[in-house]
Amino acid sequence: MIALKPSDVAGGALVLALLLPELVSPNAAFGQSSSGGRPLMLPSAQSAPQYTGSIPQPASPPRITMPQRRYAQATPAKEWSGEDGASGHPLMTSDAIRQAAANFDNCVASMWPAAAKRGISQDSFQRFTADLQPDLRIMDLMDQQPEFTKSVWDYLDVLVTDARIARGREILAKNAATFAAVEKTYGVDRYIIAAIWGIESNYGTQGGDRSVLNSTATLACIGRRQNYFRDEFLAALEILHHGDLTPQQLRGSWAGAFGATQFMPTAFKRFAVDFDHDGKRNVVDDVPDIIASTAMKFKKDGWQPGQTWGYEVVVPQGFNFLLADRARNYTIAQWEQLGIRRAGTKPFPRNTDKAFLLMPAGADGPGFLMLGNFRAIMRYNPSEAYALAIGHFADRLRGGQPFVQQWPRGERVLSRDERLELQQLLAQRGFYKGEPDGNLGGDTRKALRSFQVSVGAPADGYASSGVLDRLRGR
Ligand code: CA
Repeated sequence: MIALKPSDVAGGALVLALLLPELVSPNAAFGQSSSGGRPLMLPSAQSAPQYTGSIPQPASPPRITMPQRRYAQATPAKEWSGEDGASGHPLMTSDAIRQAAANFDNCVASMWPAAAKRGISQDSFQRFTADLQPDLRIMDLMDQQPEFTKSVWDYLDVLVTDARIARGREILAKNAATFAAVEKTYGVDRYIIAAIWGIESNYGTQGGDRSVLNSTATLACIGRRQNYFRDEFLAALEILHHGDLTPQQLRGSWAGAFGATQFMPTAFKRFAVDFDHDGKRNVVDDVPDIIASTAMKFKKDGWQPGQTWGYEVVVPQGFNFLLADRARNYTIAQWEQLGIRRAGTKPFPRNTDKAFLLMPAGADGPGFLMLGNFRAIMRYNPSEAYALAIGHFADRLRGGQPFVQQWPRGERVLSRDERLELQQLLAQRGFYKGEPDGNLGGDTRKALRSFQVSVGAPADGYASSGVLDRLRGR
């Protein structure tokens, strides 16, 4: 799962900041979704029009395949910068980090009563926590502020590649019987599961190599997300105590996401399934468990069997883009009355489904009508770009074609300084009330729309360089 989410991510952490290999932890982006998947909120995540933050992690070097486990462990970690965190949070100053690190052993020991309440034995607690050490590099990663973010088309280009499609089709063919059994049991589309698997960990080959127990202990005792990570740490201990996974298997991103589909420890607790009945819920090495556990998460997140996630659509000239809003759910028939058509040659299969209109690149890019299953994908990672990538990748695995319409590839993504300037200019004109922070979330989008309406421009809320120029008075 990716790293940008705020609320409760569940499973995958995956998406790393494409631009920022360091931000990699998929879940990191996730903030947190339903299941706890992504813990940290990346800088611009939530509903930023340009999808900063959470990008799958494409760029990491290929990992070595070890005989017994999938993730190599040797990558030498870089040292902590020793600097104050960019968030400005009082627990992220270098002094606060040093003090918390000095108290790390006491902090870990203080979690014993909570562990005991969960049925973890004293022997397990002592054994698994004996060698824990604070990994302060994680503090840099948690507070990294991306200078540049990726456009949605660059994001899709990185995630949905011919190689990933080819490999996915092999995996679908090889495990066809398991996928069929899982579809029958959980009602979740096999192509969506394969897409998550392929994008979260490149089919189990890139899931991160940090000890999940060590990372979550670090985050539970140091920095600005301690409460959140205390639960993740205790859940990780439970996994080890129950023997579902060994410490060697329980390795993952710096934010604690692990396994083929990048579950956080609490997501594991809620969704992991022992589908092959060998007594262990092994979401790292055991294909039936990986597929079924991922399906279980989608089922619990409201996946509707037999429905797709959404459709690429053609939006007519002069359309009122204020209607492109996640809060506006209309039936397909109502959208058709507003002039929306499905892209390509196929009609919509049903016109009673409710959908919202997403314009991920603004008025100059393709539109998409998103059904309830799109929201289920966003429970995995609350980024619209992520969910679009997963949905599209699943369609391609199924044999579907690339999008029909072109992205506005000539448009560039604003830098952090430009994003701050945009918010300042919107504030000066009375459209934006918040503190400029460079994160183009829902409030900025709303402010931009109001500005666009005031000047008679299409109110898509998209932070293009053109709209910035217009705010500058050029
Ligand atoms: Ca199993």
